[in-house]
Amino acid sequence: MSTLLQPAFTHRGDLISRLAGDGHYDIAIVGGGATGLGVALDAAARGFRVVLVESHDFAKGTSSRSTKLVHGGVRYLAQGNISLVREALRERSTLLDNAPHLAQALAFVVPSYQWWEAPFYGIGLKMYDALAGRASLGATEFLSRDETLGLLPMAQPRGLKAGIKYWDGQFNDARLALALARTAAARGALLLNYCRAADLFYDAGKVAGLVCEDVLTGQPYRIHSPCVVNAAGVWVDELRQKDGAANSGASTRPVQPMVAPSQGVHLVVDREFLGGDAALMVPKTADGRVLFAVPWLGKLILGTTDTPRHDLAREPLPFKQEVDFILSESARYLQQAPVRADVKSVWVGLRPLVKAQGDDGDGTKDLSREHTIVVSRSGLITVTGGKWTTYRAMAEDVLGVCQERSLLIAKKGGATAHLKLIGAGAPGMAVRAICQAPGLHSYGDEQALVMSLPGADRVLTDGLTEAMVRFAARYEYAICVEDVLARRSRLLFLDARLASSLAAQVGEILLQETGLDPQVGVFLELAQQYLRLPA
Ligand SMILES: Cc1cc2nc3c(=O)[nH]c(=O)nc-3n(C[C@H](O)[C@H](O)[C@H](O)COP(=O)(O)OP(=O)(O)OC[C@H]3O[C@@H](n4cnc5c(N)ncnc54)[C@H](O)[C@@H]3O)c2cc1C
Repeated sequence: MSTLLQPAFTHRGDLISRLAGDGHYDIAIVGGGATGLGVALDAAARGFRVVLVESHDFAKGTSSRSTKLVHGGVRYLAQGNISLVREALRERSTLLDNAPHLAQALAFVVPSYQWWEAPFYGIGLKMYDALAGRASLGATEFLSRDETLGLLPMAQPRGLKAGIKYWDGQFNDARLALALARTAAARGALLLNYCRAADLFYDAGKVAGLVCEDVLTGQPYRIHSPCVVNAAGVWVDELRQKDGAANSGASTRPVQPMVAPSQGVHLVVDREFLGGDAALMVPKTADGRVLFAVPWLGKLILGTTDTPRHDLAREPLPFKQEVDFILSESARYLQQAPVRADVKSVWVGLRPLVKAQGDDGDGTKDLSREHTIVVSRSGLITVTGGKWTTYRAMAEDVLGVCQERSLLIAKKGGATAHLKLIGAGAPGMAVRAICQAPGLHSYGDEQALVMSLPGADRVLTDGLTEAMVRFAARYEYAICVEDVLARRSRLLFLDARLASSLAAQVGEILLQETGLDPQVGVFLELAQQYLRLPA
């Protein structure tokens, strides 16, 4: 099934007018990350009236800060979590089919420096491949030393014995989030960024809708919906606790938080530190973690970490030991070790891991990475956990629960299994473009539309034109410079200094398009944070 839908304009005034209109929906979703957007798309594809509100920008939370892997999770296989791996492998293949411009196969190489590593990891990876079945992206292969260096030209040759190649996927997370939003909008859903869910309201003790606030003006709006889905990522407990306080009845027990955030840091360096088109995977670092070096949009992502955190910062800072860990481990596997001065951008994401009640959330590697859905006494549905790769399956589960609880009428599932996302229609989509420097390839079959806008020939930097900024404002909900440079183009994540240098020009174009303050100063400050490593 193809979308073949005309992209909708995302003019702020029009979106707000719709929000201020009738205000009755079948389902209202809080949070515009992978989880909420997945639910919005599935519900819209089933024909429900859908509204989604996002307090910041789509994917501003965890969903723009992933390692960019569409994967079954080799690590979960090692933990024996077969069903999680199998589901993720199936979803991997669905995602690669439905968004080929944003998610593609990538070869991963595990270099082995001990004689036992290649057979040991090779057997596990063969099993990974077997579990994928028809969804396999290519056979796992044992490599000689020379073959390993052929794929990873800058890997440390000293002591290298052999290697294993296996296949997984990689993607452009924030642009995938936008594609989900825009595909849902093309099917009638109303989605708003910069619109915060402030409170819920009730009818006879049951959720009847939510009050949201246009963050740009402070104006509140009431959304009537018997079905409210809280998909606020690591921030889900805020609404759960408000809901609990409003409906505690005779019970005085406060609602316990369900999320134990765990922080993951990524460092971005020049692609030449690894060379080639394959990613490097270290299954077990000196302290037992997994480390990736992934070529992405012309750079190399190194990461990640898994550090418990007790706050829920919007822009969490990396800890010194996390940066040191990534650099020192990378140094063991690369010929030329990247040093602090080589880092072009550092970014941090919070995993919404779900903890058992009474667990204080330390030791996050052992917490559940599967998603959890809970239904409160008042009927508020909360979903969190899981991973980007499985967002579609999570959405089906959420709608299943909504229907079981009679919050939604029953409509057949599977609506998104073959639903191509906006931009996916171009035949012969460039293979493996996501490794390559940013450019028109991210727009899939919308390239001609981008090229038709004013400023298509005005290059702001490689891979970013004036027309792309206009496209972001007209069709992709962009309001401020950060929306463009962090999540429509990914420059903030790739090279924060370069992104800073473009802020004023991008701001001018946005102002012409939207008439709204593009927040150049706020962006410049943020970009400093993405450049600064803790001393
Ligand atoms: C370091 C790291 C690496 C990862 N790597 C991978 C990977 O390679 N592959 C993979 O598959 N998965 C990966 N994951 C997991 C994946 O990124 C997350 O599971 C997923 O992004 C979570 O999406 P979400 O929508 O639940 O949360 P979020 O993306 O955080 O979205 C929640 C949204 O809710 C909004 N919100 C909060 N409160 C309100 C409110 N009151 N009103 C309105 N909106 C609100 C927030 O602004 C936010 O945008 C990784 C995670 C981390 C942390």
